[in-house]
Amino acid sequence: MIDNLRLTTDRNTEQDWLKTNLARFTGMLQGQRDLTTVGRMLLSELAPLVNAQQGVIYQMETEESAGMVMLSTFAGDGNDSHLADSASETLDRSIELSLEDNADHLIAAIDAALGRLEAGTYGQCERCSQPIAEERLEALPWATKCIECKRLEERG
Ligand SMILES: [Zn+2]
Repeated sequence: MIDNLRLTTDRNTEQDWLKTNLARFTGMLQGQRDLTTVGRMLLSELAPLVNAQQGVIYQMETEESAGMVMLSTFAGDGNDSHLADSASETLDRSIELSLEDNADHLIAAIDAALGRLEAGTYGQCERCSQPIAEERLEALPWATKCIECKRLEERG
């Protein structure tokens, strides 16, 4: 019970944080057409926010090639001041973003995530209704499915 309460409190705080930052991203990305620029902006903003020391952005390629193109990378200098506060917790943290389609798609995805935050369904898998893993949401804040469902979907 107490654990649940704490979880809810943490989650609320995190969602406030997310709401603020996702809204900022949409504002920032609005009007951007170049996915490389969008990826770089996103990564440079998102990495410090989640205390990631490394980040990679891939662009999903079309069905024919089914590969991923590395779009942008980020590596912190390791001398970040907030590293000292929570070194053990953040040491190995990295972000991997996969961007699909184009900037408009991404903005729409972020908008949808904001909608789910408003509706109170954020972080819930839209397929199986189970909570989406925290690590997944950190890497992909606008994820709509848990990793298992996403894999099922990709397998077709
Ligand atoms: Zn699921």
